[in-house]
Amino acid sequence: MRSYTTRVAVWIVLYLLFILAPLFALLAGSLPPARDFWTEFSVAIGYAGLAMMGLQFGLTARFRYVTEPWGEDVIYHFHRQISLIAVALVIAHPIILFAVRPELLVLLNSFTAPWRARFAAMSVYSLIALVVMAIWRVKLKISYETWHITHILLAIIAVAAGLAHMVGWAFYLVSPWKRTLWICMTIFWIGLLFYVRIIKPLFLLRRPYRIAEVHKERGDTATLVMQPEGHSGFRFTPGQFGWLTVWGSPFKITGHPFSFSSSAAAPDGRVEMTIRNLGDFTSTIHTLPVGKRVYLDGPYGAFTVGNPADMHVLIAGGIGITPMMSIIRTFADNGDKRPVILLYGSKDWESITFREELDALKDRLNLTIVHVIRNPPADWTGERGHITAEVFKRHLPPPYADHEYFICGADVMMDSIEKTLDELHVPISKYHSERYSFV
Ligand SMILES: Cc1cc2nc3c(=O)[nH]c(=O)nc-3n(C[C@H](O)[C@H](O)[C@H](O)COP(=O)(O)OP(=O)(O)OC[C@H]3O[C@@H](n4cnc5c(N)ncnc54)[C@H](O)[C@@H]3O)c2cc1C
Repeated sequence: MRSYTTRVAVWIVLYLLFILAPLFALLAGSLPPARDFWTEFSVAIGYAGLAMMGLQFGLTARFRYVTEPWGEDVIYHFHRQISLIAVALVIAHPIILFAVRPELLVLLNSFTAPWRARFAAMSVYSLIALVVMAIWRVKLKISYETWHITHILLAIIAVAAGLAHMVGWAFYLVSPWKRTLWICMTIFWIGLLFYVRIIKPLFLLRRPYRIAEVHKERGDTATLVMQPEGHSGFRFTPGQFGWLTVWGSPFKITGHPFSFSSSAAAPDGRVEMTIRNLGDFTSTIHTLPVGKRVYLDGPYGAFTVGNPADMHVLIAGGIGITPMMSIIRTFADNGDKRPVILLYGSKDWESITFREELDALKDRLNLTIVHVIRNPPADWTGERGHITAEVFKRHLPPPYADHEYFICGADVMMDSIEKTLDELHVPISKYHSERYSFV
């Protein structure tokens, strides 16, 4: 694993600069006559909230160079948390104003209020809808695709209306250079959107893949083998993932993320994704015809193998086996004999994806496999139930902090394993988690 210390520091400084620039700009140069503290404070947090909202487009723009040091799941997590802070700031702005200047409450009547106040209301209502849908999407029974499109539209409306409101008041934008700063920031946000929705899809359109094979796997799962068409494909590191678009062009808003399950050492740019039937999209995978054109955006993710001197402990639950399979297959292709222990949790013996191939790979690698089965057959003598601290202690040589751990599976399993590692005094720098839910 590479060290990203400098890049991390640079991105954090740039991020803070983007958020704080509007605030510094407020304080610089010629100022309008000062108002009371709370009015000025509410304006300041409104500006900061808007700047943070605009930057959200950058966080989810899948810039590999930006996301690489953290991994996509961490970036999406940050996007969610920081959005809540940004929305809280934006909503606090009118609340504080109404509290200190009740005469402004008339602006809530959008029929009589001036346009600049209507834009503010539009921005705030869009943000509230956006947060409600993001937090309660599953409870509200909104499909991922519908939510995704609505989320983008609401975000655009919220930021555009926020800007229109700010320009409408123009209290702090009298000096030309302050206006220039905001115009530049707005162009930057529009540029990000243009890049994500136009430039990047155009690039993917010119680098399509064809389905070369579709084969069924154990556990209601299928593997897609994809071959680059007219280009050499991309190189990935085992453990990484890509976004797959099957129906439609790369301009389609929603792609689906899947880990690569194939060896990263494949010479001809072929990649494989192994997909479990868990919903509308994944249920169609086994029906895809050979020869169909698909689009792959990748590679992404920081869930990649590290120090060859460490023992690698791969902990997979269910379909979380896919990145582990890529790691193991790559080790086999490279003749890499570092010690690997795979702790593999499954529902039952029959649904263990890659069961036979994993068994065969033991002959080519220094690989130990421990199956942990929730509903084992009657004659099963191995581990049963869930992967627990006791399972760790039975199969891993101490000291536990000397190994490097890779965890992928259902959220509940990952939470429990991270807790176990913590109890075993394994430092956070020694384990890596790949979560299969961004939202
Ligand atoms: C980094 C990563 C790697 C993954 N690797 C694999 C893999 O190797 N094999 C595998 O079978 N599954 C993998 N998944 C999970 C897979 O992406 C979802 O199961 C799939 O997208 C569900 O789509 P659906 O329409 O069939 O199901 P739905 O019923 O529509 O969705 C089920 C859940 O999956 C999530 N989801 C749905 N669509 C998307 C999307 N476009 N983007 C992000 N999340 C979505 C949502 O949380 C949703 O609630 C991975 C997920 C992530 C985040």
